[in-house]
Amino acid sequence: MSDEIRIPKPEYATPAGVQHHVCEHDGCSKDAGWGFVKPKYAPHWFRYEHRAEGEHFL
Ligand SMILES: [Zn+2]
Repeated sequence: MSDEIRIPKPEYATPAGVQHHVCEHDGCSKDAGWGFVKPKYAPHWFRYEHRAEGEHFL
């Protein structure tokens, strides 16, 4: 038995693939850093300059 608590390093804290979201703005398809999600709904992702569109999903 060990009392050691393992804390993953930040670069390993996020499972592979989770950070790769694509902006849902028409014709954009760049990496999206902003997620918009309502409870029970799938998240919608937009990049910074298109994040206003994501607010329509909230
Ligand atoms: Zn965009």
